[in-house]
Amino acid sequence: MTKNDVKYVYTFGGKKAEGKADMKNLLGGKGANLAEMCLLGLPVPAGLTITTDCCTAYYANNCQLPEGLMDEVWAGMENVEKIMGLKYDDAENPLLVSCRSGARSSMPGMMDTVLNIGLSSKTIPGLIKKTNNPRFVYDSYRRLIMMYADVVMEKSEGIEPADGKGIRKQLDDMLDAFKEEKGYKSDTEITADELKTLAENFKAKVKEVLGTEFPDDARAQMEGGIKAVFKSWNGKKAIAYRRIEGIPDDWGTAVNVQAMVFGNMGDNSATGVAFTRNPATGDNQFYGEWLINAQGEDVVAGIRTPNPLNDDTKNEQNKHLASMQELMPETYKELCDIRNILEKNYKDMLDIEFTIQEGNLFMLQCRVGKRTGVAAMTMALDMLHEGLIDEKEVVLRVAPAQLDELLHPILDAADEKKHTVIAKGLPAGPGGAVGKIAFDSETSMAYTANKVKNILVREETNPEDVEGMRAATGILTARGGMTSHAALVARGWGKCCIVGCDAIKIDMNARTVSIDGKTFKEGDVISLNGSKGWVYGEEVAMIDATENPLFQEFMALVDKYRTMGVRTNADTPEDAQNAVNFGAEGIGLFRIEHMFYGKNSEEPLEKLRKMILADTTEARKAALNELEPYICKAAKGTLKVLDGKPLTFRLMDPPLHEFVPQTEDKQREAAAHYGLTYEEIKKRIDALHEMNPMMGLRGVRLGIVYPEITETQFRALFQATAELMNEGHDPHLEIMVPLTINVNELKHQKAIADRVQAEIEAKFNVKIDYMFGTMIEIPRATLVADKIAEVAQFFSFGTNDLTQMTFGFSRDDVNAIVHEYVAQKIIPADPFNTLDQEGVGQLVKLGVERGRSTRNNLKCGVCGEHGGDPASVEFFFKSGLNYVSCSPFRVPVARLAAAQAAIKAGK
Ligand code: PEP
Ligand code: MG
Repeated sequence: MTKNDVKYVYTFGGKKAEGKADMKNLLGGKGANLAEMCLLGLPVPAGLTITTDCCTAYYANNCQLPEGLMDEVWAGMENVEKIMGLKYDDAENPLLVSCRSGARSSMPGMMDTVLNIGLSSKTIPGLIKKTNNPRFVYDSYRRLIMMYADVVMEKSEGIEPADGKGIRKQLDDMLDAFKEEKGYKSDTEITADELKTLAENFKAKVKEVLGTEFPDDARAQMEGGIKAVFKSWNGKKAIAYRRIEGIPDDWGTAVNVQAMVFGNMGDNSATGVAFTRNPATGDNQFYGEWLINAQGEDVVAGIRTPNPLNDDTKNEQNKHLASMQELMPETYKELCDIRNILEKNYKDMLDIEFTIQEGNLFMLQCRVGKRTGVAAMTMALDMLHEGLIDEKEVVLRVAPAQLDELLHPILDAADEKKHTVIAKGLPAGPGGAVGKIAFDSETSMAYTANKVKNILVREETNPEDVEGMRAATGILTARGGMTSHAALVARGWGKCCIVGCDAIKIDMNARTVSIDGKTFKEGDVISLNGSKGWVYGEEVAMIDATENPLFQEFMALVDKYRTMGVRTNADTPEDAQNAVNFGAEGIGLFRIEHMFYGKNSEEPLEKLRKMILADTTEARKAALNELEPYICKAAKGTLKVLDGKPLTFRLMDPPLHEFVPQTEDKQREAAAHYGLTYEEIKKRIDALHEMNPMMGLRGVRLGIVYPEITETQFRALFQATAELMNEGHDPHLEIMVPLTINVNELKHQKAIADRVQAEIEAKFNVKIDYMFGTMIEIPRATLVADKIAEVAQFFSFGTNDLTQMTFGFSRDDVNAIVHEYVAQKIIPADPFNTLDQEGVGQLVKLGVERGRSTRNNLKCGVCGEHGGDPASVEFFFKSGLNYVSCSPFRVPVARLAAAQAAIKAGK
C-alpha cells in the first residue's frame, strides 16, 4: 500500500489473483481478465496490475506517480519473481516484463505498450548465457529500444515529430535499409551479431534525434514504462476514440506489468491471436492466426502474413501456410481446451492472445470479442441452444445498431478498410450505396431506367427532387440535418443517405463536385456508408446481410419480452406493407402531404395548388372537393393493407408555400395552367411568404383559418372507413391534430369532425368508431396536457418539432451549429437524433403525467424521428409510453430496443 493507505497494485500468477473478472472498473478489462484466467487455473505469466485509480491520481497530481507507488510495485514484483523463478534486474537470472495499458472498456490499439523491459548491459550477458540464444536476446533488445524510444521517450514527452520523422519510423527505416543492403527478405535472416550492431546504432540514433540516452537501468525503464502508459490515456488517438465511443475521460487506464514469455525463441516458439468463434459470421469455429518465432506485435502489425490457426481459418491468402493444428497438434489441443473453459466461464465469445515459448503455452489476454451484427445474432442463438445463456440474454446480446446492419445491403467492412474516407456527413439513411454520380433527378431517373446504380448528389433536396431520390441508390447532400426532408424521406424508404456533408462543393454549371481536393464528374463512381456518414471516392464492395433465416427466430424472442408497442411512420400501402413485414403493429404517423410528392403526385398536387392559389372561400372549397377523392383513395389503400391494425392519420401540417412553384419559369408555367397572369400568381405566392414559416400558418392553424381544409380531410377519411366497413374490412382509424397549443383548437376541429361523421354515417348507413387525438409538439401543450386530454383520446409526441421549439433550434438550418456544440461538448449529442432526455424528455414525461391526470387510459405514443433511436426508445419505455412509431426499416431496431428496455427494467 502507498502512504495514503490506498492499494494501487494487485498481483496475479500461479493460479492465484487478488482481482477477478468483475473488477474491470478498478483493474481495467485486461487486468481483471488476467486475474480471472489465473483463478481458472490457466497458464498465465505472473504479473501485477496498477489500478485505474492510480491513473486518476497520476493526472490529479500533475502527472506524478502517487508517493510510494514504486515501492508497492517492487513489493508486487517479488511475488512475480517467486512464481517465475527469475529476478528483475538480475545479472544471472533476469526477469523481463511487458508494460501494457488496459482500460475498463477495450480501446484496441489506442494506447501504448512496451515489451522486453529490463534488458540492459547488466542483464543481457546473463540472459544470453541462460538461453544460449544471443540472436533472441539481441532481437528482443532492438525491439525494446524501438518501442521504448517511441512510447516513453517521444510520445509521452509530448514530442510531435513531422510526418515520417517519428523515432519509430526512423528506426524502422534503418532496419529496412540494413535488410536491403544485405539482401534479406525477412527479419529472421538477420544474425545475432548484426542485431547487436543494429541495437547499438539504434541507441546512437535515439540520442541524436531525441537528445537523451536510452536508459541502461532496468529499474528506470520500469518506471518510465508505467508513466508512459498512463500518459498514453491522453494521447491523441485515445482521446479521439473515446469521443467516438462515448467513453468518459475520467475513467483512466490501468497498467499491467507482466513477466515476458517469448514467442521469438526459435521454431518451437510462436505467438498468436484467436477468437473462440468466428467474429464475422458467428459460426462456432475456433478462428485465429499465429506466427512462429515472433512477438505479438508482428501478428497485429501485418508485417508478415500470419499463418492460419487451423483448417477452419484457412482462406485464399493463407492456405499455403502451415497451421498450428498441423505443426503443434498437442499445443493446439491444449489451446482448444482453454477455449472451452473460457467460453463456459464467460458465456460469450472471447478474443484471446497467446504465446508459445519453447513448446509451452501461455495466455496473455482474453476479452469479450467484437463482432458483426450477423455474428452477434448467430452466436447468441447458438449459445442459447448450447445452454450457455437464457432467452433474455440472447435479446440483450445484439445491439440495436447491429440489427440495422442486417436489414440493409452494406459496404463490405473489409473492403472499406482498403479505401480512404474522403468526406464525412450525417448518417441519415442506413446501409451502403455504390453508384455513378447524378446531379439532378432527371439524370438519376435516366440511370435507374437503364438499371445503372447511381448516387444523387445535391446541395440540398426539396420536394421536386423526390422522384430522383426514389430512383437513386443513395443520396448525398451538402446541407441539411438528420430530420431534413432528404433524411426523413430516405430513412422512410430505407435508402442510404448522407446529409450535411459540407466538404462537398458542387458546381452545377460544370456539373462537377469537388471532394477533398479531387474533382468528380457526373458518371464517376462514389460509395457511401450511410450508417456512418462516410463518403469514398471509388467503388467499395457491397454485401447483403438480410437473408439470414435466424433473423425470424431472434425477432420472435424479442417480441416475447417486449411490452411497448412499435408502429411505423408510413404514407403508402407499399411502405405500410413493408413495415408490417418488419413487424409494425400499425401506423403511428400517416403524413398525408407525402401524397403530393413523387410517384403519381401530379394530379393531387395540381388540385392542391389550385386550392392554395384560390382567392375566395368558394374557389377554395371547389378545389378541395376535387382533392377529396385522392385523399380518400390514399387513406383507403393504406387502411386496407393494415386491416385490423390502427392507422393514425395526421391532418395536413406543413406551411402551404412548400407546395407552390418557386422559380419564375415554373410560376409562369403554373399561371398558364390555372388561367392566371404571371403577376397574379406571383402576388398570391408572395402573400404566402412568412418570415418564420415553421412557426406560422401550419398544423392545426391551417384548419382554424381554413376550416374547409379540415372538413375535406374528415369527409375523405370517414368515407374511406365507411366503404371499407361495407366491403367487409376492419379499418381502425385514428385522427390526430398537429401543432396543438390548447384544448380550444381541438374542440373547434372536433365539432367539424362530429358534423361530418354524422353525415357520412347516414350516407353509408354505418356506425364509425374512431379515435380523436392530438400531436404534442409544442412545449405549451405539455404544460396544459391535462386540459387537452379532456378532448384528446390519445397523444402522439412529435419530438421533431418539440425539440425544435424547446431548443429554439431550426430543424432545417441548425446542423452546423449543432455540430459545433457537440464538438465543444456544450451539448452531448444532436438532439434531433437522440432525444434530449434532460430537457425535452422532461416535457414528454410531464405531458404523459398531466394528460393521464384527467384521462387515466390516455394512450401515448411518439412519432418523431426519435421513435427509431434505441437510447430514446428506452427513455420512452421508462416514461410510460404505449408505443413508439418510426420509419419502416427501423421497426425491428425499435422492437429490439423496446424489448431490451423491458428486460433491463425487470432485472
Ligand atoms: C414531429 O414534429 O415530431 C413530427 C412527427 O411531425 P413532422 O416531422 O411531420 O413535423
Ligand atoms: Mg411536427
